[in-house]
Amino acid sequence: MNINQMCTEAFQIAKANGWHDEPRETGTLLALIHSEVSEALEADRKGDNENFIEELADIVIRVGDLCGSRNIDLEKAITEKMEFNKKRSYRHGGKAY
Ligand SMILES: [Mg+2]
Repeated sequence: MNINQMCTEAFQIAKANGWHDEPRETGTLLALIHSEVSEALEADRKGDNENFIEELADIVIRVGDLCGSRNIDLEKAITEKMEFNKKRSYRHGGKAY
């Protein structure tokens, strides 16, 4: 499965489960991605590596749902951004983190 196939499938699964019966605001979908990030943080705080990995998958699936619902070519965007990142300066010009 490539990245765009994952996005399409994530959206189709969410749609089949009723999560797109009404148009969803981008802000709502971003908040849901953020909620999965928080769940990953909590799993890591508890030292639950299995759940941590599951929450990382949830993050990617929710990003896929957002991109699938908006016909965003995430694979192209990632490829382009990774190429850009290769050319960035060390620590992006001296940022602390
Ligand atoms: Mg989760």
